[in-house]
Amino acid sequence: MTDSSDLGVERTLVVLKPDAVTRGLAGRILTRFEDANLKIVGVKMKQMDADFARKHYFDLEERLGAEVYNSTAGFMQSNPVMAVVLEGVNAVTTVRKIIGATLPSEAAPGTVRGDFAHQTKASADVSGKAVMNLVHASGNVEEAKYEVNLWFGEDEQFDYETAAEKLAY
Ligand code: ADP
Repeated sequence: MTDSSDLGVERTLVVLKPDAVTRGLAGRILTRFEDANLKIVGVKMKQMDADFARKHYFDLEERLGAEVYNSTAGFMQSNPVMAVVLEGVNAVTTVRKIIGATLPSEAAPGTVRGDFAHQTKASADVSGKAVMNLVHASGNVEEAKYEVNLWFGEDEQFDYETAAEKLAY
């Protein structure tokens, strides 16, 4: 079999946020990634606490301010989340395309955020609530490495070959 690093195989972190879990959308959202032939190589449910939220969103306050940080970190702790490590060629970019733009009002139809939510920035700002956009996904390869290692130990990530991989590579 071809060496996976030559193929551009990457691992990326997806977190199904409390709105996805409490709305019962986990299966439907995960199906979208599986349909794109991305491979699930790690999965867990977690109740985030303040300390872990800070580690996960380590630069959010600096990037978007304390208000956005506080509403987002608070929302992420409001109910359990489901974290998944996905693997595939160009996985980081592919997953970002599947989930769509950060603001549901700007996310294209066919994307997870575009199909399952409609919230605007204005409505989030007025209500003082987080943008509930169902999914977190690593923004780039460097971020993906940090996030996968933050959420998953080596012994919680798995190697196996799918039937499709046997055909493709
Ligand atoms: P993404 O999740 O698409 O990578 P960011 O990293 O920029 O986007 O933002 C992290 C999270 O912070 C978003 O997913 C969203 O939940 C929340 N957020 C972003 N912008 C706002 C905002 N203007 N008001 C409230 N929450 C926001």
